[in-house]
Amino acid sequence: MHLSCTVPPVFCSSASIGINPQHFDFVIRILFEDLLNFFFPNLCAACEDHLVRGEKGICMACLLSMPVTGFEHHPDNPVMKQFWGKVPVHAAMAYCHFNKGGRMQKLIHQLKYDGRPDIGVKLGQLCASRLIRAPLFSGASLIVPVPLHPGKERLRGYNQAASFGEGLAEVMRIPQWTGALQRKRNTATQTRKHRFDRASNVLNVFEAVEEQSLAGKHILLVDDVITTGSTLVSAAEALLKIQGVQVSIVTIAFARG
Ligand SMILES: [Zn+2]
Repeated sequence: MHLSCTVPPVFCSSASIGINPQHFDFVIRILFEDLLNFFFPNLCAACEDHLVRGEKGICMACLLSMPVTGFEHHPDNPVMKQFWGKVPVHAAMAYCHFNKGGRMQKLIHQLKYDGRPDIGVKLGQLCASRLIRAPLFSGASLIVPVPLHPGKERLRGYNQAASFGEGLAEVMRIPQWTGALQRKRNTATQTRKHRFDRASNVLNVFEAVEEQSLAGKHILLVDDVITTGSTLVSAAEALLKIQGVQVSIVTIAFARG
């Protein structure tokens, strides 16, 4: 019997139609995916075109035209300059440029506001494929994401920086520790302070939870978008208080302020 049998798949079996069970499972899976795709179209998160089989999250055309920075090979790149005179980080880079109305803005929006942590993971994997060829980042031994405010994370269901870190960790084969840094509790009063006080308060928002477990590590501190870098400065400072710690910064995108 041929595969064009009119019996619904659920009543068919590989034995009854005389084909290899593995091939049968494969065909059923493809049919099921196509059916699912018909009712719930699988679209590219950047351009909204239909994804073809083998593409996940972002289509090939968008992947090939990502606005990558190439900063990982340049110690004096514009992201690194955000930290000069503020905190002694070892290296810093952003995977892509953030242009208004561009692909990266769309991807970051999906990651942060449309419940798409998978986009963060994908961008982490892509970024890591560049970092593993960059000597500046070769000694990194741990990934630490900038923690989200706990209330925000509960609402969103995930920390987008940790999703990015997950993709980095997978390809770079180093662990991520999502709970290594935490936000101090007293920052809610920030809005009531005047400008000068607020600036000084921002410098002391984070704390490391277990200093002895972080000592001596080269930490990749990761976040979604860097603009002025003040959050990252604060997080890096909390880590650099620990003995022997080196900090390098990696973000998904760089938005010029
Ligand atoms: Zn696309």
